[in-house]
Amino acid sequence: MADRSGFEGLDACVHCGFCLQACPTFLATGDEADSPRGRIELMRALESGALEPTDPDLRLHLDRCLGCRGCEPVCPSGVAYALGLEAARERLTRAPGVAWPVRAALWALTGAEVSGILYGLARLVRATGLPGILAGRGRVRFAMGMLAATKPDRRIGGWAVSGSRPAAPSPSAHPPIRRTAVLFRGCIMDGLFAHVHAATIRTLAANGYEVREVPGQVCCGALHVHAGLRGEARALARANIAAFGDGDAPIVVNSAGCGAMLKEYGHGEGERGASFAARVKDVTELLAERGPVPGAPLPWRVAYDPPCHLLHAQRVAEPPLKLLAAIPGLDIVQTADAAQCCGSAGLFTLVQPEMSRAVLAPKLEQLRAAAPQVVATGNPGCVMQLGAGLRAADIPAVVRHPVELLDESYRAAGFYG
Ligand code: SF4
Ligand code: SF4
Repeated sequence: MADRSGFEGLDACVHCGFCLQACPTFLATGDEADSPRGRIELMRALESGALEPTDPDLRLHLDRCLGCRGCEPVCPSGVAYALGLEAARERLTRAPGVAWPVRAALWALTGAEVSGILYGLARLVRATGLPGILAGRGRVRFAMGMLAATKPDRRIGGWAVSGSRPAAPSPSAHPPIRRTAVLFRGCIMDGLFAHVHAATIRTLAANGYEVREVPGQVCCGALHVHAGLRGEARALARANIAAFGDGDAPIVVNSAGCGAMLKEYGHGEGERGASFAARVKDVTELLAERGPVPGAPLPWRVAYDPPCHLLHAQRVAEPPLKLLAAIPGLDIVQTADAAQCCGSAGLFTLVQPEMSRAVLAPKLEQLRAAAPQVVATGNPGCVMQLGAGLRAADIPAVVRHPVELLDESYRAAGFYG
């Protein structure tokens, strides 16, 4: 039988429409062609040749898909939407090629030669504090808000934890180091979220893990897959599989987008890809396996916003909540539709700004009503999108990775001396 490259994932669709209300772009436009069911029809027409890859309507509606996979868990037929979308995007990319802004963004954000320089410059600009001052509405000001959201800052609502020293948990709750984990560093996480890596290493150490570095690792390839560059993504996968070797230490990831991609190395990279994928754990999964040990109370009102690539793609729902539950005193607020995409979706926020903001808008209004001091989410794109959105909407909340909150709780408990 001919290799259908992933289009076969769409065969199970029976047009029931259960997925429509889970699709943020359908909710934003009300257009069937912006829904999973509509897009599946377009992709089937692309595969059969009934529509050309250059068809402008086909491209418009497939380009407007976030790839958030919110349609997958609600589908009673088990449609593998993401697999079909990957195949369709590869075919679209082959025809006129990748648009130059996408190619330029990939080069700048993930290219080994230039990304270090770009992130270094971004950190310098960030350190001036100007991005936070200039953040607001409009493309440039929103981008400033995204950069400002990456700034390490331990204050929540202008109040730092240090100084409030609740009773430290008993030292017996602090396990000796017994296991090794290896850290996946990623591109944006390494360039702009080194403080989250540091918090990951500290909190895992407090839970019995020694975290080791792995040289020679590269970008996970997720942005390449979204852009339809499956060949380039596979080359990156092979480089990572070689770099991490055949050991059995868990590969810890603190970016949901990277984690989802790494867990899919089994598709296309054979047995070594499958055993690599089986080792990949989101940091919250690894911490939840050990409890995690509780820290000191933090008196913050927190809304948890699950990243799509953690909840829908990796189906990791409970571990981040377990992590937050290890912090006594947190007031966890629920927002309706927290599971809906924030509109970040890799490069989507840059190349489809109107749709991205339309998808973000209802989430911001729900957060305004819930009035948290902190929005916790475990993906760099979501931290940046939500951080910029909150500033643009004048909502006084900050965005943090859940592991940063646990880290702060452990610091307050005196775990770090
Ligand atoms: S829920 Fe599944 S089967 Fe139903 S229309 Fe959506 S993709 Fe197709
Ligand atoms: S991946 Fe997200 S945006 Fe795309 S069709 Fe599915 S739910 Fe809609």
